[in-house]
Amino acid sequence: MTEKFHIATGLAKIGLYLRAEGWQQAESESLTPTQGQILVHLVRRGPARITALAEELAVTQPTASDALSALIRKGHVEKRSDPADGRASLLHVTTQGRRVAEVMAEWPDALLSAIDTLETGEQAVFLRGLTRMIRELQVRGAIPVQRMCATCSFFRPNVHNDPAAPHHCAFVDAAFGDAQLRLDCGEHEPAGESETSTLWQKFLGTSSGEVDAPPAATGETS
Ligand code: SF4
Repeated sequence: MTEKFHIATGLAKIGLYLRAEGWQQAESESLTPTQGQILVHLVRRGPARITALAEELAVTQPTASDALSALIRKGHVEKRSDPADGRASLLHVTTQGRRVAEVMAEWPDALLSAIDTLETGEQAVFLRGLTRMIRELQVRGAIPVQRMCATCSFFRPNVHNDPAAPHHCAFVDAAFGDAQLRLDCGEHEPAGESETSTLWQKFLGTSSGEVDAPPAATGETS
């Protein structure tokens, strides 16, 4: 068995643990895992249409629809008309739903402790590896588009000479390193297709020049 199969086995074991935790957490709030995911998603991203929700959570529309009907029945979500289109409706989390979502959004202590066993440098390497894998899955259409730095128009990869913080986020105007790469950022602004490809090459350090000039001209200094 080669390393890649060992890695796949390890990921499957962590996935199994997270699925079991997800069921347990959802059950404690009398929800299904899909209902819990929808609730957390609506709190993090704000009101959404059902089609967008199904797409972002990679579930079918009937599955999202069933879960939403249950959430509305339980008083966690309500439908309001979309100000942008009177014929469409947006799903909003109620105050009660927000309280439940806070519980659902907590990561299990055991998982956080396991991550803490990695040194800071190991965490950075791990996060960079995860970013590469998630990007590949996204390119292959295996998962929905993720709101990660590597596909964000605010991302300036490898623009600083500091090995601990070579990247720059133009949204917060700050330098950061691989250990702070985001995989689900609320401020993410999707870059265009060709821009994403350029960003990706620069992130991997395979573009010509390797390190660009710092973005001082646009006020994006570290
Ligand atoms: S806005 Fe978020 S996703 Fe975009 S570069 Fe900054 S931290 Fe990364």
